[in-house]
This record gives sequence, C-alpha cells and structure tokens, in this order.
Amino acid sequence: MKSLRHICNIGQSLIRSSQQQRGIASLSSLPETHQMLQKTCRDFANNELVPNAGRFDREHLYPAEQIRKMGELGLMAVAVPDNLGGTGLDNLAYAIAMEEISRGCASCGVIMSVNNSLYLSPLMEFGSEKQKEDFVSPFTDGSRVGCFALSEPGNGSDAGAASTTAVLKGDKWILNGTKAWITNGYEAEAAVVLATTDKGQKHKGISAFIVPKNIAGFSLGKKEDKLGIRGSSTCQLIFEDCEIPKENLLGQIGYGFKIAMKTLDGGRIGIASQALGIAQASLELAVDYANKRLAFGKPISKLQAIQSKIADMSLQVESSRLLTWRAAWLKDHKQGYTKEAAMAKLAASETATYCAHQSLQILGGMGYVTDMPAERYYRDARITEIYEGTSEIQRLVIAGAVLKELSNS
Ligand SMILES: Cc1cc2nc3c(=O)[nH]c(=O)nc-3n(C[C@H](O)[C@H](O)[C@H](O)COP(=O)(O)OP(=O)(O)OC[C@H]3O[C@@H](n4cnc5c(N)ncnc54)[C@H](O)[C@@H]3O)c2cc1C
Repeated sequence: MKSLRHICNIGQSLIRSSQQQRGIASLSSLPETHQMLQKTCRDFANNELVPNAGRFDREHLYPAEQIRKMGELGLMAVAVPDNLGGTGLDNLAYAIAMEEISRGCASCGVIMSVNNSLYLSPLMEFGSEKQKEDFVSPFTDGSRVGCFALSEPGNGSDAGAASTTAVLKGDKWILNGTKAWITNGYEAEAAVVLATTDKGQKHKGISAFIVPKNIAGFSLGKKEDKLGIRGSSTCQLIFEDCEIPKENLLGQIGYGFKIAMKTLDGGRIGIASQALGIAQASLELAVDYANKRLAFGKPISKLQAIQSKIADMSLQVESSRLLTWRAAWLKDHKQGYTKEAAMAKLAASETATYCAHQSLQILGGMGYVTDMPAERYYRDARITEIYEGTSEIQRLVIAGAVLKELSNS
C-alpha cells in the first residue's frame, strides 16, 4: 500500500499555492492533491473498512490492524510535518480523509480523529521540542494512539470546573482525580490530561499535562458499553497520587483551559467530518436500496415521497460539507475559525442524525435489522451531537460570536 506521503508527493507549500488558485465549492474544484487523497481514502475504506465495520460494532472490537494500515497510509498524523513522522498535509486534507474513513467505519473515524485532533494537535502547538520527539513522533504510524482527557464524572459541558488536581512536589507533578468518557482510553499509550493547579483561579487555574501509560498511580475504569462507535474504547482514567515528571507540563501553568478550547475548535472539524462520513454512507445506502426495492410495481426511488427524502438528505450533506471545508480552509489560512468550526460541527452532526434516520426509514423493515448497516449508522450518528461539545454548546458558541459581530457593527 502506498502512503499518502508518496501518493501526494507534495509539501505544505504546494498545497497552499494550489489552494490559492482553486476554490473549495466541490471536490472537482479542489487541488489535485486533495482529489487524489479522497480517492485513496475511499478505496481504502471500501476494501478494508466497509467489509469489517459491522463486525467491529457487533464484537466491540478495536480495529488494531486497520488503524495500523491507516498509520502506514499517513492518516494517523495528517497535519504533522514529515520531519516528525507525519504526512505534512493541511486541515482540508484532514477533513476529506476523516469523512472517507468515517464513511467506511465511524469507529475508525473517531480513533483517527482523537489521535490527530485531540492528542497530536495540542502537542504540536504547545509542546517543547523534547515533548514532540517523545510524544509526537512515536504516535504517527498507527502503532500507538493517544487520547485527550478533559471531561470528568461531575463536569462535561462545564469544562472549566475540573476537579482533577495536579500539585507540584519537587520535580514531580502529583495528579489525583478521575477523567470520564475518554475515547481511545484502553489503547492509548499517552494522554493529554487537564487538571487544576490553582482552584482559586477557576478555569484560569487549569493546566495541561502529558501522562504516559504504565505509570504508577494511573489506572483505567471499565470500558463503557455504548450505543454506537462500538469499535472504539471509552473509559475512565483514574489518577491516585500519580507522579509525572515536572517537564510533562504542556505549555504554561494556567494555560490548560485555553489549550483545551483551541484543541476542541480543531477537533470539531474532525467530528464534523466524521458526521459527514456517516451521513454520506446513509445517503448512498438509501439510494441503492430505493433503486432496487420494488413496491406497487416499480422501484421505490420513483415515488415522490422517497425522492423528497433523498433531496433533503443530499441538500443537508452538501451544505454541511461546505461549512466543514470552510472551517478547515480558514484554519489552514491562519484565520479565526471558532464560530465556523462550531457551525460545521452542529450542521454536520444534525445532518448525520437526520440522514441516518431517513435512510433507515427508506429501508423499511430492512433498516431495522443488523443485516443492513442502516441501524448502525443510526446508532453511530447520535454521538456526533454529544462529544466535543453538545449541539446546545455549539449554539452557545455560535450565538456568542454572532452577537459580538453584529452588536459591534
Ligand atoms: C462516547 C463518548 C466519547 C467521549 N470522548 C471524550 C474524550 O475523548 N475526551 C473527553 O474529555 N471527553 C469525552 N467525552 C465527553 C463528552 O465531551 C461529554 O459527554 C460532553 O461534552 C457533554 O458533557 P456531559 O456528558 O457531562 O453532559 P452535561 O454537560 O451534563 O450536559 C447534559 C445536557 O445539558 C446540556 N447543557 C449543559 N450545559 C448547557 C448550557 N450551558 N446551555 C444549554 N445546554 C446545556 C447539554 O447540551 C446536554 O444536553 C465523550 C463522551 C462520549 C459519550
């Protein structure tokens, strides 16, 4: 299998110059690199993920072999520069790859998204050279994955209320507390963990740390039994007098909340793309079934009630894709994208839920049984409206930005 580095045979500069010449309105208007990337990821997903995704879901199986192959392709560190072992592509490329992988298997999508957006990205932005050497390069080829631990049993949306603490004693930080709902928790070889270093300062007293696995005082809770994305693990990370070296602080003391919010802005492009993949798969399944299923002497695709559903699904997918690519494009061009990433995540996650619902409806009884993937898409879609900020929180982010923009104009 050729890696994306080889197939694309380009660097960041070529991507940037080609982006300047072309638009993002459709796949065919994207630079050739991105079109080739999309085709490579689609072929990989059709051959390696589509035939196995149902089994990963049924057996709650972590897709280790597929993640390794995705690493060989360059998908586990898409935007990390090649001198650190990454693929050196941009965020638009990441969004396209995430959609294609998630179209094949939403569990593989979230594992990829957490490694790229939530683990590697803050390390790349805030890590020291030594931290990058130790905790970025070994996590680029799919043989190891990382995780990101912000949520706790007592606080999710209210992320500034972290009760996990980190106290500096000599040359060690001592961590105590429990992180909840952590994706990749079981397999991760290292975690970016947010903990309070100064309770009095509330969210300004939160700091970020890099915690390696297999360290005394760090254990895992039970694997959560989830509705969807069942090929990915989700569990608690438990810290009991867990000592980590002083130099494992990520960024500055008190910068943890900022690091977390910046990380989630980028993460939302990843989850929007995951949601798009599920929505696209739902749409394709619905069209295929509607063309084959006969009712009242003709394929149900000839019925206007079915056509209306297909039109609405398609409209939502394409508009969400444009919002997602816009957010990625803004990030690539170093422009603000907090509102745009929230819009993309909100639109794409609600699109995924809508399309999976309509696809199941078009399949009728066959949509409700595990012989067909519609019911899995329906279950997988639901999480995209919850993690990395619920739909209610995305609306708060968007409204806050719009009120600021328009009230000042
Ligand atoms: C499968 C899975 C994987 C996850 N992976 C990770 C991970 O890798 N790392 C990590 O740190 N976390 C992870 N999470 C946690 C996830 O980000 C949180 O579940 C999410 O942020 C919501 O937090 P909560 O569950 O505590 O809900 P709550 O915050 O208790 O919210 C409950 C309800 O109240 C609403 N609500 C809360 N505040 C407001 C408000 N101000 N205005 C309006 N409505 C509001 C919410 O939208 C929601 O509907 C994961 C969760 C799941 C289920």
